Amino acid sequence: TFTLGPKISDWDQQRKVWLSQKPEFPTFVNGKARILLVTGSPPNPCDNAIGDHYLLKAIKNKIDYCRLHGIEIVYNMAHLDRELAGYWAKLPLIRRLMLSHPEVEWIWWMDSDAFFTDMVFEIPLSKYDKYNLVVHGYPDLMFEQKSWIALNTGSFLFRNCQWSLDLLDAWAPMGPKGPIREEAGKLLTANLKGRPAFEADDQSALIYLLLSQKDQWMDKVFLENQYYLHGYWAGLVDRYEEMMEKYHPGLGDERWPFVTHFVGCKPCGSYGDYPVERCLSSMQRAFNFADNQVLKLYGFKHRELLGPNIKRIRNETVTPLEIVDQLDIRHSAHRKS
Ligand code: UDP
Ligand code: MN
Repeated sequence: TFTLGPKISDWDQQRKVWLSQKPEFPTFVNGKARILLVTGSPPNPCDNAIGDHYLLKAIKNKIDYCRLHGIEIVYNMAHLDRELAGYWAKLPLIRRLMLSHPEVEWIWWMDSDAFFTDMVFEIPLSKYDKYNLVVHGYPDLMFEQKSWIALNTGSFLFRNCQWSLDLLDAWAPMGPKGPIREEAGKLLTANLKGRPAFEADDQSALIYLLLSQKDQWMDKVFLENQYYLHGYWAGLVDRYEEMMEKYHPGLGDERWPFVTHFVGCKPCGSYGDYPVERCLSSMQRAFNFADNQVLKLYGFKHRELLGPNIKRIRNETVTPLEIVDQLDIRHSAHRKS
């Protein structure tokens, strides 16, 4: 059967020994657990040039968030395992990064079509001290309804530990492209509510695994829905003006969504569930909404949520340091907690 690599069963021990020998690679920096954000896109150009432009916007958005919050970032364009191409590519990649970066405590996967839309909000990591997988989801949709959208694998965090390697091993077997993925797709459609007929995808496979082996895994899985670790774009992008009027960044929930994820839009591919124009203009709005929070540090904002032009929001001054602390979200004055 399919495996992600040689079976490792003593990773926690191996990692502990390595860390003790490498004090120059601490798992905590400035009191915060080290996070590596991982994203990527296919090895070849998009079908459409505009798709590549939106991939560029999406990675700029992630670089900005990560720079402001001291998070390291990896952009992958390779298929590490040819069997696990497409949406399954994240599995071998996450495993590889855990093994190659033992100093990293959390690996955070984020899809290319997910944008940070709250540049101030930070993941409340201490809440997850006892957990190894954090994913946006709803327990009732999962265990009562067995819905194929009970959780979303567009943005989730794995702790770097043996449990996570084991979960990846249990998750991967439906992934190999061809007959295995096709057959597994039928099983998933038969068992998950609302799932259309198509080959096995990583999200359905994870839901099915957690449903069918609940006792084995769920005590270490945190289904987060207090804030938008993943937020479905269709209900959010038309409300950005209202949010700007009423609220402020740092909330992360429906008042100011942490992440806006363009599920069902495929600007880099040739088909999607929504009209391309609606997807692109909505992505542009999400990008500008987020970018305004970055440009504010530098004294500018976008003239509108659609369109590339910016305008100045403060006069230049000869004593710029006077306002640095107020504006830069890295300074403690801006932190909510
Ligand atoms: N992805 C990748 N390499 C590929 C295909 C997909 O890294 O060859 C990543 C990309 O970040 C994408 C995610 O996997 O956003 C999920 O794939 P999916 O096909 O579901 O794309 P989406 O609908 O998120 O654009
Ligand atoms: Mn996606």
